[in-house]
Amino acid sequence: MKNEVQLITYANRLGEGTLESLTEILRTRFNKVYTGVHILPFFTPFDGADAGFDPVDHTKVDPRLGTWDSIGELAKTHNIMVDTIVNHMSWESPQFQDVMKQGEKSPYYPMFLTMSSIFPNGATEEDLAAIYRPRPGLPFTHYTLGGKTRLVWTTFTPQQVDIDTDAKEGWDYLLSILDHLAQSHVSSIRLDAVGYGAKQAKTSCFMMPKTFELISRIKEEAAKRGLETLIEVHSYYKKQVEIASKVDRVYDFALPPLLLHSIFKSDVSALNHWIDVRPNNAITVLDTHDGIGVIDIGSDQLNRELKGLVPDQDVDDLVNTIHKNTHGESQEATGAAASNLDLYQVNSTYYSALGCNDQHYIATRAVQFFLPGIPQVYYVGALAGVNDMGLLRETNVGRDINRHYYNTAEIDEQLQRPVVKALNALCVFRNTFPAFNGEFSSSCDDKNLVLTWKDAQTSVSLTFTPSNGSGVENTQSVVSMQWTDGQGEHQTHDLIQQPPVYEEA
Ligand code: BGC
Repeated sequence: MKNEVQLITYANRLGEGTLESLTEILRTRFNKVYTGVHILPFFTPFDGADAGFDPVDHTKVDPRLGTWDSIGELAKTHNIMVDTIVNHMSWESPQFQDVMKQGEKSPYYPMFLTMSSIFPNGATEEDLAAIYRPRPGLPFTHYTLGGKTRLVWTTFTPQQVDIDTDAKEGWDYLLSILDHLAQSHVSSIRLDAVGYGAKQAKTSCFMMPKTFELISRIKEEAAKRGLETLIEVHSYYKKQVEIASKVDRVYDFALPPLLLHSIFKSDVSALNHWIDVRPNNAITVLDTHDGIGVIDIGSDQLNRELKGLVPDQDVDDLVNTIHKNTHGESQEATGAAASNLDLYQVNSTYYSALGCNDQHYIATRAVQFFLPGIPQVYYVGALAGVNDMGLLRETNVGRDINRHYYNTAEIDEQLQRPVVKALNALCVFRNTFPAFNGEFSSSCDDKNLVLTWKDAQTSVSLTFTPSNGSGVENTQSVVSMQWTDGQGEHQTHDLIQQPPVYEEA
């Protein structure tokens, strides 16, 4: 992966709805800004029960979006990351449909998990209560398999049937996906929801030793095929640190809520502590197609004795401040109110969560870009987008609040906003300034966090002082930047009025 900023996007929500149009937008509107792209699921179908995370055929590009050749074309100019959906597939897949028809006689029967695959002798209340859940209720859905009513394991929606990764059939299915992606110009894979991918009776079935083994096995197979692996897990921060040493890349999911916390409370101490302990092989994000995860900084959900990066009371305050900053929009989109899948995420765009404060927004992006790791920006964030209440009301899917459809005309309009121009300039600076490939250091006092990069010839540092601009209405800049290159010393105290520019010698 190049040490440059990447975009996360749907194939059909940025441009005119196809891979070809996305490619054109990336090349003409974001040239040199995003040099890599994580394309969210574009498999068949891309618009199922969970916006593509429920493939019927994981190896086929949905023909409404394009073909594998469209991916090949985009790969000529951009590094491509693609999801590998490890935990489940659609109930409408030919494999599961065959199991429904033939039950145990189907050759695909071993690919899927029922309650009795894990609890052959039955389960106690304690066994079932121990299973860690991303959403309410038990992880089972009634299906009729070969004429018999069975309880099929469904971690997420009832339409997403879990794969038995222990079974040869399940494992072969995963390998077939890796084979396909490796031949299709993909350079890295995102292991979707892999924390739930292994199951074992009398455990939480989440991020346990068996899960770590599964992750290592997949990583090994991906590496054999020349694919880099990114792990997607929302969990207690120490688990993230532990898993990071076993994979190529892990998301820094603690960063988005910690940055909000530092702005809301004018306090950089928890963020500074995280910088000391966080894994450097991170993909940094502030926003993704999911909500803003908050369990990532709180105490361990499975053992409250294990303290988080901030006290649990501060996590509650954070959620309430987001609700306040969005005038209740995020509340409408979060939890059971909006058939939300993930209980532990707040649905809002990052920009709206900050009360649409341009200075705070650009400051959080600057801190993100200055932390070790590869930065990714979600397409809504790339345009400093606000909550889409219309789409939310239309679909009643909480996460749609942060999944606006931008056509080309709207993209062009948004690109004129100073905050968006400033973000693009910051991306270009991050992609080209040499010091970002050098050594990182940081320091902190009561008020300021200073992040510095240095190589033999150049250096750059960012000072983040959230207390300079506390309160949503405050329009003061809360970051400043100093840098030295062949042409001397430069600085800016306002990344929007005066974005940093680096002219390569
Ligand atoms: C994805 C979600 C999806 C879930 C189930 C996640 O981790 O990011 O969007 O709903 O996995 O596939």
